Amino acid sequence: MAIFIIATLFLLFVIAWPSDKPSLTTEPMVKPIALDMDRILQQQTDTVAQDPNEVIKAHAEFPDMSGVSEHFVTLQPGDTVGKFLSELNVYSALPELLVADEKDLRLGNVMPGQTLNITLDAEGRLSKLVLGIDIANKLTFTATDDGYSAELFTEPGEWSERVIAGDIHGSFNISANKNSLSMSSITHIAKLLENRLKFRNLRAGDKYYVVVNEQRVKGEFYQDEVLGVIIKSRSNTYSAFLHDDGNYYDQAGSGLNKAYRKSPLNGKFRLSSHFNLKRKHPVTGKIRPHYGTDWAAPIGTPVYSIGDGVVERVENHPLAGKYLVLKHGRQYTTRYLHLSKILVRKGERVSMGQLVAKTGNTGRSTGAHLHFEFHINGRRVNPLKVKLPYSTEMDAANLKRFKANVLKMKKQMGV
Ligand SMILES: [Zn+2]
Repeated sequence: MAIFIIATLFLLFVIAWPSDKPSLTTEPMVKPIALDMDRILQQQTDTVAQDPNEVIKAHAEFPDMSGVSEHFVTLQPGDTVGKFLSELNVYSALPELLVADEKDLRLGNVMPGQTLNITLDAEGRLSKLVLGIDIANKLTFTATDDGYSAELFTEPGEWSERVIAGDIHGSFNISANKNSLSMSSITHIAKLLENRLKFRNLRAGDKYYVVVNEQRVKGEFYQDEVLGVIIKSRSNTYSAFLHDDGNYYDQAGSGLNKAYRKSPLNGKFRLSSHFNLKRKHPVTGKIRPHYGTDWAAPIGTPVYSIGDGVVERVENHPLAGKYLVLKHGRQYTTRYLHLSKILVRKGERVSMGQLVAKTGNTGRSTGAHLHFEFHINGRRVNPLKVKLPYSTEMDAANLKRFKANVLKMKKQMGV
């Protein structure tokens, strides 16, 4: 974009500068650029995009003098990145783009509604590709000396807390949803309290109080998180509050989540590759970090969720193969790669220890193994070193902090 603005300003400058104005130097200050109309027209006819009007519009708005061209498209069902790269004659860039996509794993599974912004340089090579993932996330690939580098830009948006409270009529689901609590929060609450409360036993007039933290990006609702809930039936009070360790506890401080398990596999498997930020590629000698832990396990070995959570992604990627992403609260995400089978669906809530997949050898993999990653706030950490709540008991210091927070939230709820 910037290059067009600069080019346009430059053109205006050249046009606006009076040619007969006496110059202080004998050399011309600027050399006028010859407009190569043939080439521009040629490019317009060569370029095929989803909507040809987009291309013509782009050229009309930004007179293209440098040979650089920009192409924008909103993806339709069935569209792939490869399709547009080949239409623009830059399909050969795909393998290097996929290597750069190793962290974010987005190019292999683009979805309808996402956007692509492709920039070609004067020689017709792919210089930049921007994938608009959703209203909050944009993934940019920029050409480097050896391939592409990827950078994910995330809009922080705005978080605000909101209390949703009311009487139950019909069911908790219907009443709370009518009262604008999101379905994902409702199913989350049902899952948190499932071992303590039979939701179908709730009666008309029973009360609920929920504090949610809602994120808006550019004014649009993006996601929410349950901070605390109290459900009062005639005879009992049920509660769940989020602690800063990412787990939920009842108001007395007794754990509702199951504790995390250390490994997604049962039994002992050979650790074939450690988490290593300085790993050198055996052939090229270049630094190629390994962001996960690999266990050599025969195809079909059961894979278990290491904690309670929700299925964020079920995808297939040329390098990662069949893979699964689980989200455990707002901070933690785990990834399971090169699978042969995935047994859960996107959006499904899973429990610690639940069988979620079978290991495999899909994607770029030289032998049957599980590649397991642990992300904290989007940053990849060593899964074997991460400190997680392995017990649902809180120590005294945590309990004190937790109870102070519960008091604060109950005030918000007006309970
Ligand atoms: Zn690996």
